[in-house]
Amino acid sequence: VTEEGGVNALIFKKSLMDLEAGTVIYTGDEVEVIRGFPKIRRTLLLSPTLMEHFRDSVAVEEKMNGYNVRITRLSSGDTVALTRGGHVCPFTTRKALELMDLDGFFSDHADLVVCGEMVGRDNPYVSQDYPEVGPLGFRVFDLREKNTNRPLPIKEKRDLLESYGLPPVCLFGIYPVEDAAEEVADIIRTLGKEGREGVVMKDPSMDLPPLKYTSSQAHARELAYAFSYPFDFGRPFFFSRVIREGFQAYELDESDEETLERAHRLGEAIIYPMLERIKAIADGEAAYEDTVIDVDDMETAEDFIRHLVHLGVSATLADYRDGKATVRRFYQATTDRINNYLEGGLY
Ligand code: ATP
Ligand code: MG
Repeated sequence: VTEEGGVNALIFKKSLMDLEAGTVIYTGDEVEVIRGFPKIRRTLLLSPTLMEHFRDSVAVEEKMNGYNVRITRLSSGDTVALTRGGHVCPFTTRKALELMDLDGFFSDHADLVVCGEMVGRDNPYVSQDYPEVGPLGFRVFDLREKNTNRPLPIKEKRDLLESYGLPPVCLFGIYPVEDAAEEVADIIRTLGKEGREGVVMKDPSMDLPPLKYTSSQAHARELAYAFSYPFDFGRPFFFSRVIREGFQAYELDESDEETLERAHRLGEAIIYPMLERIKAIADGEAAYEDTVIDVDDMETAEDFIRHLVHLGVSATLADYRDGKATVRRFYQATTDRINNYLEGGLY
């Protein structure tokens, strides 16, 4: 039990029976349940999996790489933005309201939760530049009912978003299930070349659970990131990305040359970031990561740091100048263990 957005609330850190992790039960004047965003299963192969999993057609949406946000209007009248675990994030709430005019939508549809991804370079959780988005942006991928978590079908969702001027994720198309594997293969190759993450495939009626599939370049980028803080990521993080590459090479590579390119990308993503980190630690640096975010004042920046620390992240405010806050996140295990090996410790 905590206080979230000024209202008493129960947060589910783990899933319990039908309730997803990240579910929040508000116990203010009215009891309201904001369900957690369901986990999306991944497919390693497009064929035959798409044919097995979907019915007659498949909607293919872009998977944006940022962080998951649920925006809801509470019975108190406040609009709040929740991150994955169910906590109200002060930064996200303010930015979401700056980026979108949600008043019209929530006046008519207070029973719906807007689920989307906060994306862009100036992003304190997952920073990736999207040229069409600007420094920070929001893209809506689902509209879901409070209490039941039922998602609206693809067409209803897109029509509703359009009529309220809210920004949807890109829909590449709705394909007959027989053609889907080939269509997605082409889309993934193009997205990969542009450094974009991948796709989420959905049943147009949203009766079946969606599936995700990602580009080789996205795998390499995540590996490079994780290998620059190798002891702060769990082993499954590394292993699962290598496995994805094995199956993608099997299914998508059209020539030996393509496989060689993939092998290079994968190898470079592993070795260079790790080498850079070992050198830096040998030079006496600590492993940390800085992100710059836009804030109104120093107090908002400190508020955000407190939010991160509350979530268990080791972070400090490294700098604040004219509305730009530098958030510094420490990777202590990486610093300590590399130092230990450099001083002669055994693995
Ligand atoms: P989880 O599946 O629990 O979120 P994860 O961090 O591994 O864990 P991802 O691999 O990023 O998640 O994939 C699922 C996430 O992708 C969703 O939670 C959502 O935030 C994001 N996402 C981006 N674009 C879409 C989209 N078009 N439809 C659905 N989800 C999307
Ligand atoms: Mg993601």
